[in-house]
Amino acid sequence: MLQITRLAVEGLERDCVTDNPRPEFSYMAESDRTDNAVTKAALEVNGWRCETAEQTGIVYGGVPLAPLTAYPVTLRVEDRYGEVAEASAVFETGKMGTPWNGKWITDGAYVFRERKTSPRPMLFRKELTIEKPLKRARIFATAIGIYELRLNGRKVGDDYFAPGFTSYRHQLQYQVYDVTDLLTPRSVLTATVAGGWAVGSYTYFRRNRVYGKKQAFLCELRLEYADGASEWVGSDESFRVTMEGPLRAADLYDGEIYDATVDLEKVSWRPAAVTKPDFSPNLLAEYGVPVRAHEELRPVSVSKAPSGELIYDMGQNFAGVIRARIRGKRGQKLVFRHAEILMNGELYTQPLRSAKQRAEYTCTDGEQEYSPCMTYMGFRYVGVSGIDEGDLQLSALALYADMNPCGAFSCSSDTLNRLQSAIVWGERSNFIEIPTDCPQRDERLGWTGDIALFAPTACYNYDCSRFLEKWLLDVKAEQGRGGGIPTIVPQVKIYNQYEMFFTMAIDHWGDCCIWTPWAEYRARGNREILRRMYPTMRRYLAACRKWAELSSPGRRGKIWRLGHHYGDWCALDTDFRGWMRRGKWTATACLAYSAGIAAQIADLLGEAEDAEEYRRLSRETAEAYRTILMDADGKIRGFRERTNPAQTEFLTAYVLPLYYGLLEGEQRRKAAARLAALVREGGWHVTTGFPGTPYLLFALLDNGYVEDAYKTLLNDTCPSWLYEIKAGGTTTWERWDALREDGTVNAGDGGGMVSFNHYAAGAVGDFLYRRVVGIEPLEGGYRTFRIAPVPGGGLDWAKGTVRSAYGTITAEWRLKNGRYYLEIQVPMGSECQALLPDGTAEQVGSGRHRYEWPAASLTRD
Ligand code: BGC
Repeated sequence: MLQITRLAVEGLERDCVTDNPRPEFSYMAESDRTDNAVTKAALEVNGWRCETAEQTGIVYGGVPLAPLTAYPVTLRVEDRYGEVAEASAVFETGKMGTPWNGKWITDGAYVFRERKTSPRPMLFRKELTIEKPLKRARIFATAIGIYELRLNGRKVGDDYFAPGFTSYRHQLQYQVYDVTDLLTPRSVLTATVAGGWAVGSYTYFRRNRVYGKKQAFLCELRLEYADGASEWVGSDESFRVTMEGPLRAADLYDGEIYDATVDLEKVSWRPAAVTKPDFSPNLLAEYGVPVRAHEELRPVSVSKAPSGELIYDMGQNFAGVIRARIRGKRGQKLVFRHAEILMNGELYTQPLRSAKQRAEYTCTDGEQEYSPCMTYMGFRYVGVSGIDEGDLQLSALALYADMNPCGAFSCSSDTLNRLQSAIVWGERSNFIEIPTDCPQRDERLGWTGDIALFAPTACYNYDCSRFLEKWLLDVKAEQGRGGGIPTIVPQVKIYNQYEMFFTMAIDHWGDCCIWTPWAEYRARGNREILRRMYPTMRRYLAACRKWAELSSPGRRGKIWRLGHHYGDWCALDTDFRGWMRRGKWTATACLAYSAGIAAQIADLLGEAEDAEEYRRLSRETAEAYRTILMDADGKIRGFRERTNPAQTEFLTAYVLPLYYGLLEGEQRRKAAARLAALVREGGWHVTTGFPGTPYLLFALLDNGYVEDAYKTLLNDTCPSWLYEIKAGGTTTWERWDALREDGTVNAGDGGGMVSFNHYAAGAVGDFLYRRVVGIEPLEGGYRTFRIAPVPGGGLDWAKGTVRSAYGTITAEWRLKNGRYYLEIQVPMGSECQALLPDGTAEQVGSGRHRYEWPAASLTRD
């Protein structure tokens, strides 16, 4: 039967409120018939009828939409067998730039001057009288800072950290909450507004007041009565404000202080003051993905530390908050501390640097519950003091962007499955409003290189469209004048005096403006994101080219040497300065690769001239790498390791040109052999830095070194992926030897850089999907894709699932009794190229397909 299993507006199946004047539609149709496809599809919105062959990125092309209006969408599709299916959806437009009925308000008397900390939270309050029966009531709200609304004491919505984190100077989201069921004839609306990213301390310099001198709040309540009348109640001087609410302190790094004894009837309230933000962003209905609570983790053990602190082990490293059910006495003070690891039975908090990650709670009498809502922590262990174990029931909530899972990987190796789980938890923990590097220390910044490298893996595990597109809008907005991309987005001007460097083009980090939309396009097939980011990509590539030419004139003009590069960041065989000195190799290879991707994007967008130019840039840069940075025998040249002059090679210098396709023929063959030899000499350990790590296994396997790739993947001694798992890691680490085999922590030379929850090394997830189970898009969104698993490493079976734009793809292989079985599922409307072990390819349409061969037929190196 033909069924429409998803019809989405702006990526949402329900509750979409958008200010986009040209919203995008997508749908998924599924059928149990083989070789089926949609032959006709018609979408209708607001009198606009669109017959289309696309299933994603269908852009509204009708007359202008009106603000605050509900629009029904209908879709009718027909398949090859003449079956018909219909579906409908509704979306609403937001304010679309129309003036607000509310005014920005703040506490006029509060002066916030302290440095390196966050302001005291403000609490606003408004009594409401509803005189007639209501049909519907909604609150539109936003803040400078982060806010939480309550109506009659009950939380409005279930999101955290509204209005979310964006480059506030450019765009600020507002939320729309339906509060019809929460309103009573006499209601009290409260809004707690903490400093968050805008006013609170942020970055490892603990800068504060980045976007505003103090918090501000803006809201309006839209009341629609049963008799057809409607009215607005906007924030203004009639709201009251206090700085003496129960939330005494809130800081994203340091945590919260909450006093449950505060009686709101007794604190001093004063009228709110009308204010004006220091900047005028575009106010847009939420277009990102709100953070919500997902898993509730229960402790796997409770112990007592030598210091007397109770230690709760949540069994998983993650980002979130505790949830404490407490039997307490008025005035009793509880302290909750958080850390990723233990050392000698105590919380080990050094890696957090200045972040306190602490919650302090003062009890009232009796049973009560506390869970922080204006902060989050990255942790596995919680240290509790101030209460007996019997009076506390402790769990924890995992907080992360509310995205739909869309992929799964499993296999016969339990340790590898645990690595996959660690990768997924790394993604969850760092997809909090923006893609961050880590969720625990005083950083949690939108480091661009980390996501550039991790995006393909991220898009396999979750549908990240709205999440990444929101962030990319900030990348676009914050591109420097010279075309460079800040190394962190949203950019916080932490480097004032050197700022120019940080908006310079930097290999792999700046390339996020090309690679992230590209990963998103490949996973979801929506060209709009490419179109939107294309001008940014062009300017970025022009900047890269300029810097390369400036740094190495003449014949070497394509070698990108000068400037600030993070190079082989976190490589194990050198130090901080050594990572950066490898920039000549990483940057040159990266430019050749990025230009190649840009050429494909230009082709897709019909920019033929650009495509030609980018192909040439890619060719010439690749040639420079081949002839200047490498010799004809495929050996890198001109390199001497800073910390060990006898070392003249490093893995990443081979991995990148091999994976990026810069080498050909004999030189390629020899470079691959050299890489394999180095990997063998190193005992199949991984020492690559961020740029090399995602591609090391591809570089081996795709050049015929299948067993070396598997040996490296399955190695469980330090340094390797599975060592991290064996050593107790439940997320991937920033450094390969973050926890050394002797149990000590490696925090680097300065002693301040180690995280146990960095997703960069988890970028190997891409390899699990694309090679171990072999599911790989050939066209954006898997309209055509390939299934080409490469069994090896002694695995008995592996299974992968990808929910593509067209439906669910699965690939599952099994080796049993000398036979090799492969079963695949191809969704309707897509075509699969199945690469069979004998080297032949078969084109298959939708449905399930099963194959079986003698195991001996698997080609091996
Ligand atoms: C971050 C990284 C980031 C790097 C860039 C680190 O402090 O945690 O993940 O990419 O800096 O230099």
